Amino acid sequence: MQDVQAITQMILTEGADNANAIQVKDMVFDRMFRDMCAANSCGNYGKCYMCPPDVGGIDEMMDEAREYDRGVLYQTISPLEDSFDIEGINEAGRRHSALSQRISERLGGKKGVLHVSSGGCRVCEVCAKREDKPCTFPDQAIASLEAYGVNVYEASKTAGMKYINGANTVTFFGMVFVRDEADA
Ligand code: SF4
Repeated sequence: MQDVQAITQMILTEGADNANAIQVKDMVFDRMFRDMCAANSCGNYGKCYMCPPDVGGIDEMMDEAREYDRGVLYQTISPLEDSFDIEGINEAGRRHSALSQRISERLGGKKGVLHVSSGGCRVCEVCAKREDKPCTFPDQAIASLEAYGVNVYEASKTAGMKYINGANTVTFFGMVFVRDEADA
């Protein structure tokens, strides 16, 4: 995997519905997303190593993301029976997580990349944090775009993707941040 085009094609081949590279300098970062996590509407705050507050400080994480040059934004779009289809949303989340894990495997230990996805880390059925045990798969754990303060709505517009893809669908996003020197 030597360049952004190859990473984009790999992500599409693995099953993303769309993928496109954008410049990190064109992305919007906002520490407000950390406040939304702290509101704990998902119930994962403090319950997952890849979620706040364990994942790290918002300012440090935004700075880390800004050190990259480009981000390959990808999305999965999954059908729902209706807007109350909780099992459909969960299944869509599992589909997206499985894709993200395949992408991580394909990226391997590639230097100069940072891979983030949607929501909390879903590598384990139940995060070891909930049992006060060490992270089970630290090399596979994936944080979210929001944990890094990424405004995904703005990023999707910049990437030419729809943030919402119509009634009775749910859309999840991920991104592979790339440093240009990794393109050699
Ligand atoms: S890999 Fe497992 S234990 Fe580690 S952060 Fe992800 S869900 Fe939690």
